[in-house]
Amino acid sequence: MLAFKEQVYNATIELIKRQTTLQSWGNISAVDRKSGVMVIKPHKTNIQDIRPGDMVVMNLQGKVLDGLKKPSFDALTHLVIYNSFPEIGAIAHTHSMYASCWAQAGQSIPPLGITHIDRFYGEIPCTRELTDLESEKNYEEATGHVIVEALKDLDPFKTPAVLVNRHGPFVWGKDLDAALRNASVIEEIAGMAYITLQINPQLNILTAKQVNVHYERYLSDNN
Ligand SMILES: [Zn+2]
Repeated sequence: MLAFKEQVYNATIELIKRQTTLQSWGNISAVDRKSGVMVIKPHKTNIQDIRPGDMVVMNLQGKVLDGLKKPSFDALTHLVIYNSFPEIGAIAHTHSMYASCWAQAGQSIPPLGITHIDRFYGEIPCTRELTDLESEKNYEEATGHVIVEALKDLDPFKTPAVLVNRHGPFVWGKDLDAALRNASVIEEIAGMAYITLQINPQLNILTAKQVNVHYERYLSDNN
């Protein structure tokens, strides 16, 4: 188990190094489907202040199996996503600048060019705003549910990210490397989309057909 904790610990350090998140605002977790456990960093800690052994191990029902500290509050969001999509192996959450600005504005990121389509099939959806009741009752768990709601009718591997309204991006992949990569890519795409629309506010978004053609081309390049 220490090796698994170490992998998630190193990925958390890497997430911070890539400047996709500031201080303790972001987190990354991974799940071991065979043993049914998830590893995430402890609540309100700077990763540099803890050791790999301090990472928290939970089962997918949210029970802490190993860890002296409480898990990151966002663990509840991660658990809802893992329980809804069994193919997902790792999830990252950041407060990166451009992606969080789109999220705060409550706007999905439209597909404007090929860089976007190389990783995301169509728009990157933004969730609805949580109701006051949802926020008061259990903000983190409700956040997981609105993410799942935003992915209704979407393939979570073709759309490996959702912006949480007024908050920031959650991204994922089959493993930690994929989740880390998507955390960096969504920030690039969010920045490019913002600048592109400054240059040409009247620009049309790519049509469904254009999205399809470029996505298929990307897939054939990478298989
Ligand atoms: Zn957050």
